[in-house]
Formats: sequence, structure tokens, C-alpha cells
Amino acid sequence: METGRIKGRGPDGREYVVRIFTQGTEDEDRWIECLTCGYRKRAEFGARAKAEEHLSGHCDGPLQHERNPTAVVGIMIVAGLFVLVGIMMIWMFNQRP
Ligand SMILES: [Zn+2]
Repeated sequence: METGRIKGRGPDGREYVVRIFTQGTEDEDRWIECLTCGYRKRAEFGARAKAEEHLSGHCDGPLQHERNPTAVVGIMIVAGLFVLVGIMMIWMFNQRP
């Protein structure tokens, strides 16, 4: 699943895109792929930093980060569940005599 993209513009005005994605069911199995030159690398840790590092070879301007909306919704659901569990714990604790 694609989790995000980082875009940048080269000196020639060309747009360069590196996408960050996960393979299989393991969420930790992260990869980066440059859609412009076809560069692919496994990036278990610091996928963003690796993508930025690769883009800096193409681009000289500021980099633009994009998140996959589906991934954001997933993160928000997980965060919401944590908050809900927290509220329930506090509520249960307060119910004790
Ligand atoms: Zn590239």
C-alpha cells in the first residue's frame, strides 16, 4: 500500500516523485520508489529521509510531502480507538467505590 509521496522540482522544471509504499502484509516492510528514474530501495527505517535524500539528487527546490488519504484515515481510526479506550479506563476507574 502506498503511504505517501514526496515531490520536488528539478532545475529544468521537471517534477520528480518518490513514493513510499509497503509490501505484503508486513507494515514494516517499507520501500521507496522513484517514479522518475525507477530507483527502488528497501527502507525499513527512515523511509522519508531516504526518499528526501534521493530527491535531493534530482531537485534543488523545496520538497512537497503528500500523504495517502487512505493511510491517514487508518491512522486516525487507530488513534480514535486509543482515545476511546483511555476514556473508558478513566470512566471505569471513577466507578470504583
Ligand atoms: Zn530518481
